[in-house]
Order: sequence, then C-alpha cells, then structure tokens
Amino acid sequence: MANHMGFQAPTHDHKRCVSSALENAEEKSRVLGLRFTKTRRKVLEVLWQSHNPLGAYEILDRLQKDGRRPAPMVVYRALDFLLEAGLAHKISSCKTFIGCSTPDENHEAQFLICESCGSAAEVAGQPLAEALEKTAASAGFKINQRVVEIIGVCPNCQA
Ligand SMILES: [Zn+2]
Ligand SMILES: [Zn+2]
Ligand SMILES: [Zn+2]
Repeated sequence: MANHMGFQAPTHDHKRCVSSALENAEEKSRVLGLRFTKTRRKVLEVLWQSHNPLGAYEILDRLQKDGRRPAPMVVYRALDFLLEAGLAHKISSCKTFIGCSTPDENHEAQFLICESCGSAAEVAGQPLAEALEKTAASAGFKINQRVVEIIGVCPNCQA
C-alpha cells in the first residue's frame, strides 16, 4: 500500500486511485454488511475526483453537475456513513472531507496538507499515534478522536 502514501506526482494515474478506492469501499461494505448505496457511492466518487479535500458545499455543487442537486441532508448523511465506515476522513481545521486511501486498515487519520495547491496526503505513522497516546495518558487524558493535520508545502509545489 506504500504507493498510496504521501503526495502523488501530477502525472500519476489517478483513475487507478479512484478505482481502487471504490473497490476497497465495496469490499469493506460487503465484509461489514454495510449498505453502500448509490448516493454513498456517488459522494465517495466526488471525494475521489482529486486528492484535495472538499467542503460539503463543493460536494453538493459537483453532484449537481452530474444531474439533479441532492438535498444537503442527503449528502450530510452519506458523509456520516463514509466517516463512520472509515471510508473517508474529516479534516477539522478546514471543515472538509477526503476519501481514505487505506480503509482496509484500522488507523488514526494523519494528514499532510499543502497550503499551496490544497492537496492532502494521508500518511501512516503508528509511532506518532503511540507517542500521542502516551502524552495524553501522562496528562490523565482519554482520547476520543484524533486527527493529525500538518500544514506545509507538498513536493509538487516545491518543485
Ligand atoms: Zn490519485
Ligand atoms: Zn484513512
Ligand atoms: Zn501542493
């Protein structure tokens, strides 16, 4: 799965990212007995149009381009499903959503976010997760949710 980690070069075959994300989602839904409905699939497809996280209204706009505009509630519910199923993550600092690149693995969300092009890369980092766990424990703190977001400039934008 190493090729899904980090930032993708602008020339990468994004169709492969999309098809593997949708396959993973179907597989995970099947295994967990979740209903991967048309709407949920459509919203995940929109999230995977690029590696840039999208706000709820951007998602609505893009869905509208493909036909009728769904009610915002429908989209919010689909997003809730995707978040709960671990197929997408919420980036809280910018209130946006992004498809998960490794939904088959149980993991904490950790993102590198480029402030220049807006793309985000999900990165694996068990050592970081453990360090945060320890830090919290030493403060007597119980973690409920943990999303690591690191803002900077991606390799494509530095080039
Ligand atoms: Zn891609
Ligand atoms: Zn993820
Ligand atoms: Zn960038």
